[in-house]
Amino acid sequence: MVGPFTPMPGGPRLQIAVVGAGLGGLAAAWWLGQRHEVSLFERRPRPGFTASSVSVSGARGAGEPVRIDVPLRVFYAGYYPTLARLYRALVVRSEPVSYAASFTDGQGELYFRYRNLRVADQSFGLLAPQDLLLGRRALRIAGGLLRFHRHALRALRRGELAGISIGEYVARAGYPADFVEGFLLPAICTVCTCSYGHARSFPATVIVDYLARGLASESVRRALHGADDVERRLLAGIPRLHTDARIAGIRRDGAGEGGGVLLQMEDGSRQRFDHVVLAAQANQSHELLHDARADEAEVLQAFRYAPVEVLTHGDAALMPPRRRDWSPVNLMVSPRFDAPESTIWVNAVQPALRHAAPVFQTVHPLRAPRAHTVIGHARFERPVVDAASQVALQGLQRLHAEPARRVWFCGSYAQAGVPLLESAVRSAYEVALRLGAVDAAAGWG
Ligand SMILES: Cc1cc2nc3c(=O)[nH]c(=O)nc-3n(C[C@H](O)[C@H](O)[C@H](O)COP(=O)(O)OP(=O)(O)OC[C@H]3O[C@@H](n4cnc5c(N)ncnc54)[C@H](O)[C@@H]3O)c2cc1C
Repeated sequence: MVGPFTPMPGGPRLQIAVVGAGLGGLAAAWWLGQRHEVSLFERRPRPGFTASSVSVSGARGAGEPVRIDVPLRVFYAGYYPTLARLYRALVVRSEPVSYAASFTDGQGELYFRYRNLRVADQSFGLLAPQDLLLGRRALRIAGGLLRFHRHALRALRRGELAGISIGEYVARAGYPADFVEGFLLPAICTVCTCSYGHARSFPATVIVDYLARGLASESVRRALHGADDVERRLLAGIPRLHTDARIAGIRRDGAGEGGGVLLQMEDGSRQRFDHVVLAAQANQSHELLHDARADEAEVLQAFRYAPVEVLTHGDAALMPPRRRDWSPVNLMVSPRFDAPESTIWVNAVQPALRHAAPVFQTVHPLRAPRAHTVIGHARFERPVVDAASQVALQGLQRLHAEPARRVWFCGSYAQAGVPLLESAVRSAYEVALRLGAVDAAAGWG
């Protein structure tokens, strides 16, 4: 099970608590547990990573239930080296999926479409000829896309994007509104689950780097048996998982050799650990850290969050009106709203549902699906990435470099780049490295 992973020889065996069982906390507990005694605490009845998943019938009216991840999460190896390596170590199988997308306006008219499935040597290309026949607007978007791909990547390599937001970059470079408003910002909103305003303020380096690692040339993938399978394999290496265990707060207790961290449970009881890894969101971690120093509070508060709603349902009214316009991912883009509505056609991305009744997952719903079709309703918060969060990341690095540190922070917000599964896992790996649980020479990066 452990695979290409080498625990550090020597050093004391520490008692460590990890708070939060999203993928960041699960990965941290898995790595740390190779060397130390680890207890993982999660406030929900099951690990947060899969706590919002739903089950549907696998075939029309019958069949084995099929689990659907909420949210559905994809990755591509170029941008997710740590996740890909972890999946290999856990023997998690993944498969390429088409995340082709359609863009429809507020009147239900399809105005652009692209594809991105590449399997082995069979490339299906990014833009198919029939997609460009959609009209002048599609041609302008395609032109902007090709120009952006060439110029922005070159600007990134030359260091010309440092310190500016993606909104500033496209305004300075004079990209047409059709490309910016009709494609680029909605696409960023969909990947980062954010509003147009937040999309504009993303650092240009972060967005262009996300594209630069091969997104246009390799297919995105999903874990073949979903998040449940990933979680099961991680939990096999985590003997002490406590669910329904909401931590009320933590406080450092003593310094130096005899120092530790007190973990306070909701019922008032306390447990003492040598180290605590806070793998909750930054805003939650700030509340939990009862003796936060001013610099710790400043760093954690600089990571802001925006709410996201995800509905899993069976109402085709949230899809493009014409069936032939349906893609695996479908964006409804209208200037009347602060973000696009994006609906994933789950049957098209999850082969086990190919013959099942239609299932959709809508992120940021702008229209309510018919109530009887709703299968699941989940709310999340997504970290906002902007100039302030970039500065806070440096502050977090400084905190983690303190020699006497006993409280650690991990999660998707805690690494550079778009906050995704990769940053959650990478931040967990970095903490495991600092606590001597993994060997930097083992080749994880
Ligand atoms: C709509 C949507 C679509 C997404 N799509 C993708 C995608 O396609 N690809 C991708 O890579 N990423 C995607 N992501 C992002 C990805 O899901 C997250 O980055 C990742 O799951 C975050 O993991 P985490 O461990 O950092 O945080 P979380 O999952 O937030 O985990 C934190 C955990 O801490 C627990 N916790 C909090 N407070 C306490 C407490 N006091 N006591 C005990 N436990 C506590 C919480 O219950 C939670 O389980 C998407 C996100 C959303 C919302």
